[in-house]
Amino acid sequence: MSSSSVQALLICHGKQLQNALGLDSDRARIDVQCLLQSVMQVDRAHLLAHPERSLDEDQHSRYTDLLERRLRGEPIAYLLGLREFYGLSFKVTPATLIPRPETELLVELALQGIPPDGPFRVLDLGTGSGAIALSIASVRPAIEVVAVDVSKDALEVARENSKRLNISNVKLMQSDWFSGLIGERFDLIVANPPYVAVGDIHLSQGDLRFEPSTALTSGTDGLEDIRHISAHAKAHLNPGGWLLLEHGYDQAERVRELLNQAGYSGIFSAHDLSGIERTSGGILKMRSVNSENGEGNTKSGS
Ligand code: GLN
Repeated sequence: MSSSSVQALLICHGKQLQNALGLDSDRARIDVQCLLQSVMQVDRAHLLAHPERSLDEDQHSRYTDLLERRLRGEPIAYLLGLREFYGLSFKVTPATLIPRPETELLVELALQGIPPDGPFRVLDLGTGSGAIALSIASVRPAIEVVAVDVSKDALEVARENSKRLNISNVKLMQSDWFSGLIGERFDLIVANPPYVAVGDIHLSQGDLRFEPSTALTSGTDGLEDIRHISAHAKAHLNPGGWLLLEHGYDQAERVRELLNQAGYSGIFSAHDLSGIERTSGGILKMRSVNSENGEGNTKSGS
């Protein structure tokens, strides 16, 4: 009841979460800590330094509600409304994918190729909460980042994040991939597109059950959007510009092949912290491609 100490709640509800969701014990305890911090409005150090504290009635009822939702599997990021990514705190809602640590690789790789002082134009396709675009923009304030999403609700979240983080060099626009970008060219195009195959078992597990399927699934092989993006990005890249895509754990080879077919050179894949080839990219050869649909100049050596 409301008189239980923080310590008692951590132990008891940590175990409950562990059993209900099959989490390991550390993860389950951290989840309970996060919920407690959120309702008590304290940081982790405070929470752990005062294990004897208990919740007042209002805090207890909010905590119970959040815990029940978590026990039913709702992602902790949606319950808190926040997720850390690349050292920044992003608002997230069920309209947006929850930023994943492995996506920081895409940001790192992008930053390696962006000169510190601009001018340089980056496009982030399917920006969601804006995590990728805003992280890049925060480190490179002199460049211009355009971030698009087909979802108005997601763009609203990204807009709030740009305000909260006080980042002013990201322009947000509604666009279904390149549909709203006719005639626009960039030096770098990045995307963490949907790449899970429809029917994939992972969609019925963990956080993915609650995330927008439009941000997760992409045809029967998971590559429909990556195929579309690699074919059409060329018409929106400056000569020497590059495309960088996150993809599934087993898709690197097929993505490299798609980039090769689309005529990119310098094609590579990079490993995330788990040692998985997670992000692949290529450069548009200096000879520019003029067709808007990107069909030209597709021959390339392998
Ligand atoms: N990385 C997510 C997952 O597999 C999927 C995100 C995406 O499709 N871009 O859990």
